[in-house]
Amino acid sequence: MSGPTLFERIIAREIPSDIVYEDADFIAIKDISPKAPIHLLVIPKKVTARVDEIAEPLEMGQLWLTAVKVARQHAQDYRLLVNCGQGGGQVVFHTHIHVLAGWESGPDSDT
Ligand code: 5GP
Repeated sequence: MSGPTLFERIIAREIPSDIVYEDADFIAIKDISPKAPIHLLVIPKKVTARVDEIAEPLEMGQLWLTAVKVARQHAQDYRLLVNCGQGGGQVVFHTHIHVLAGWESGPDSDT
């Protein structure tokens, strides 16, 4: 049996984090190990392990709309990124979108 995910524990305030946005369905936090000057994680409160488990178009749409909204609250230009599965670089198996931004002249690489 697996317990609550890391992000569920953050949502429950069992683990501290720097919360930048929250509504009934989503939370956005600063990444603890930022890979860009601005690095946020947009996380649905409804748990799925990975983004391709979201079957409902409305849920998928709300996730991306929230990511865009949060991104635009912090930057004009930004990168949205999803790691999907271990082979895709995913480490925390609770769906989330990375918001990366704040470079002076764009990200260092295309990967
Ligand atoms: P993934 O590789 O699963 O797409 O990304 C997981 C992200 O969660 C990583 O960028 C990692 O730095 C971040 N992370 C891991 N543990 C914590 C934590 O306890 N707090 C916060 N704020 N971010 C975390």
